[in-house]
Amino acid sequence: MPTHSTSILIVGGGFSGTLTAIHLLHATAGQSLSITLVNPASALGRGLAYRSNDDNQILNVPAGNMSAFAETPSHFVEFCQGIDPSINPGSFVSRRLYGRYLEQCLHTAVSAHPERFHAVEGEVDEVHALPAKDGFTVNLASGHCFIAAHVVLAMGHQLPRFPLALDEKTRAFVIDAWDFDSMNRLAPDASVLIIGTGHTAVDALFHLTQQAQPRMITMLSRHGLLPQPHRLNPNPPPVGQYPEYLGEAPLRMRTLLRRLRQEVARHADSGGDWRDVLNQLRPHTPRLWQALSLVERRRFLRHAVAFWDVHRHRLAPQAADRLNALLQTQKVQVLPARLLAMHVCAAGELSIELRPRGQQAAQTLAVTAIVNCTGPSMAIGPRSQRLFQQLVADQLLTPSPCGLGLQINDRYQLIGAQGHAVKGLWYVGPMLKARHWEAIAVPELRVHAQQLAQELAKQLAACSALPAQPESV
Ligand SMILES: Cc1cc2nc3c(=O)[nH]c(=O)nc-3n(C[C@H](O)[C@H](O)[C@H](O)COP(=O)(O)OP(=O)(O)OC[C@H]3O[C@@H](n4cnc5c(N)ncnc54)[C@H](O)[C@@H]3O)c2cc1C
Repeated sequence: MPTHSTSILIVGGGFSGTLTAIHLLHATAGQSLSITLVNPASALGRGLAYRSNDDNQILNVPAGNMSAFAETPSHFVEFCQGIDPSINPGSFVSRRLYGRYLEQCLHTAVSAHPERFHAVEGEVDEVHALPAKDGFTVNLASGHCFIAAHVVLAMGHQLPRFPLALDEKTRAFVIDAWDFDSMNRLAPDASVLIIGTGHTAVDALFHLTQQAQPRMITMLSRHGLLPQPHRLNPNPPPVGQYPEYLGEAPLRMRTLLRRLRQEVARHADSGGDWRDVLNQLRPHTPRLWQALSLVERRRFLRHAVAFWDVHRHRLAPQAADRLNALLQTQKVQVLPARLLAMHVCAAGELSIELRPRGQQAAQTLAVTAIVNCTGPSMAIGPRSQRLFQQLVADQLLTPSPCGLGLQINDRYQLIGAQGHAVKGLWYVGPMLKARHWEAIAVPELRVHAQQLAQELAKQLAACSALPAQPESV
C-alpha cells in the first residue's frame, strides 16, 4: 500500500482537530510544512456535535460565547447575522449552523495556504513510533500509511458504555446514543427506555418524540436529575479574579461544595442568580481541579458530579421549555433508579428490573427498545477504540487514574508509560478533562487548540535544537 509523508498528521476532523489545523496553518505560515487531517467523514468541523441536519438540535451555549476564536468574541455572531440579522450574542442557534460556521472557518484558513493542507477521508487504526523516535508511522483502515513527524490525536468522544453486560439477545434491543437512524426505524408505538437524563438523553428524547403519535418514554438515571435551563439572553461569563470564598490548597471537596453553596445563598439573598456564581467560577475550575488530591477528585466523581453537571451544563431556554412540555404529557417519565438486570420476554420485549431510588423493592418495566445515553465514555481500557488500546500497548499513552481519559503534560504532549512526554505525540479534545476538568465545551477547547498549535509551531521552529532523549514531564 502507498506510503505518504507529512509534517503533522491530525487524527480527527471535529471541532478540536479542525481548530488545531486552522491555528497551525497561521502559526506556521511561511514554512514549507504539510498538515494532513484524517477524518472518517468528508465534512470537516462537524464531528459528533455539529453534524446533524436537524435544526431542532440547538447549541447549549449562547452564540456570543461560541466564537471559534477567543480573541474575536463576535466572530460567530457576525457569521450568524450574515444569515439572520436578528441573531444576537444571547441567541441559541442550531448545531447545524455551527457546523457550517466551522467549515467556513477552515475553508478561509486553507484558502490562504492551499498547498500545505490535505484532508484525507479515512480512519486511523494505528500510530507507531519510528525506531529513532523522530516521527511516527500512521496506518489507516484503508491500508494507506503516512510517515509523520508529529501526530495530534483529536478523536473526540467515545460512545457511552452500557451499565450492564449484554448478550447477543439483549444487545439487539440497545441503540447507541446519537444513532438517530436506528431510532427512526422503531415502530411508532414502541415504548423506549432512555438510560441517562443529561444532554445526550434529552437529544434522544427530542428525536423520539418528533412524530405525531406519542409513545411511552422513560428516562432513567440514579438521581433522576435533568439539566437546568439557561436564562434568556445570558451574557458570556465575565473573567474575574479567583473567588476568595473558596480558599487555598489543600482543598477538600466537601469544604469546597459547602463554600459554593454558601456563596450561592449569599448571592441569592442580594437578589442574584446561582448561575452567576457558577459562571464566575468557570475560568478557575482547572486551578481548583489541579489543586485537589486524587482521593478528593474521586470523591467528587462518586458523590457530586451528577449535581455539578446539571447546573454547569445547562439547556437552552427553548430546549428546557420543550422538555417541560413533554414531561407534562404523561407520556414521558423520569425515573430515579438503578438498573439491575434485563432479559428478553417471549413477546419480543425487554423486561427491565430496576430499583427506584430510596426503595428496597425492585420493579420491572417492559420496553421495546433502550437508548444508551449514559454520557460519552472517557475511560481508556479494553473497550476503548482500537487506536487508544494500541497506543497503550506501545507504551505511548497512559490512562488517567480517575478514568477521565489520558495523561498529558502542560504542553499537550502525551505521557508515555515511562512517565515522560512522548516527543511529537499530542492530544486535544474532551479528554483534557483529566487535567483541566472544565475542558469539553467550545469556550475552553478553542483556547486549548490554539495553545497546542502555538506550542507545536514553536517546537517545529526550534526543531534542530530539540533534545534527542525524551523530555521530562
Ligand atoms: C451532542 C453534543 C452537543 C454539544 N453541544 C455543545 C454546545 O452546544 N456548545 C459547546 O460549547 N459544546 C458542545 N459540545 C461539546 C463538544 O465536545 C465540543 O464542542 C467539540 O465538539 C468536541 O470536539 P472534538 O473534535 O474533540 O470531538 P468531535 O467533534 O467528536 O470530533 C472527533 C472527530 O474525530 C473522528 N475520529 C475518531 N476516531 C478517529 C480515528 N481513529 N481516525 C480518524 N478520525 C477519527 C470522529 O469521527 C470525529 O469526526 C457538544 C458535544 C456533543 C457530543
